[in-house]
Amino acid sequence: MRNELLRKQQIVEIGQWIYTRGFISSTDGNISYREGDEVLVTAKGLCKGRLTTEDIVKTDLQGNQLAGSREPSGEISMHLEVYNNRPDINGVVHAHPVYATAFAVAGLSIKKPILSEVVLSLGCIPLAEYATPTTPELAVALRDYIPHYNAILLANHGALAYGQTLLEAYYRMETLEHTAHIATIARILGKETVISNENLDKLFAVREKYGIKTPDLRALGCPSTTGSDGSNEIYTVSKSELIQLIQSVLEKTK
Ligand SMILES: [Zn+2]
Repeated sequence: MRNELLRKQQIVEIGQWIYTRGFISSTDGNISYREGDEVLVTAKGLCKGRLTTEDIVKTDLQGNQLAGSREPSGEISMHLEVYNNRPDINGVVHAHPVYATAFAVAGLSIKKPILSEVVLSLGCIPLAEYATPTTPELAVALRDYIPHYNAILLANHGALAYGQTLLEAYYRMETLEHTAHIATIARILGKETVISNENLDKLFAVREKYGIKTPDLRALGCPSTTGSDGSNEIYTVSKSELIQLIQSVLEKTK
């Protein structure tokens, strides 16, 4: 790997950014960089805000350790799943930012086109089904989403963002959290005005011009200017509301 020390220093720096920006707490999160068949990844169980270059380990694309005295992150399978399915990606950041994770806890994706720059960079952000952290389940849950999106919410867990460079992966995580924050406040204010389909077409033309990958997003209905945020959206009804709903359906079918 070329400039390996510089790459490790960049991972250390991004660890400090995600910690100081509150995208993680304690020993949460993990960061990786790929070059060819080699991956540099943060070690297991350390605070990402206080890493040194000694805390970065090297593996191959199957997760076999090639160098480093510590164990690789327990969530490395998620990173390898991205690299093995997206040859254009060289950096992955996983974190638990508060607003993005709140969406993931509420069972909500972010599919409405409310911010033009987010349409350009991320398109929209789907919600992957719940999977147990540190197990291969996590990679499987993400498999269907990775080819089509550049950031994913992980149900009851956090978020994953990736890019052509590690810096781009970090920026995408920051964009995701910023979007979730704005969407939350817009909902508190009571209204989310979406960008029209006509203007979305123009944004996607700009997207192509800048060579932003995942060109099949529109065919997947992303972003969605109508309807809900996605099939995973969770609604809460009280017992009496549920009884009333069932009774009204029974009335109609009499
Ligand atoms: Zn996590």
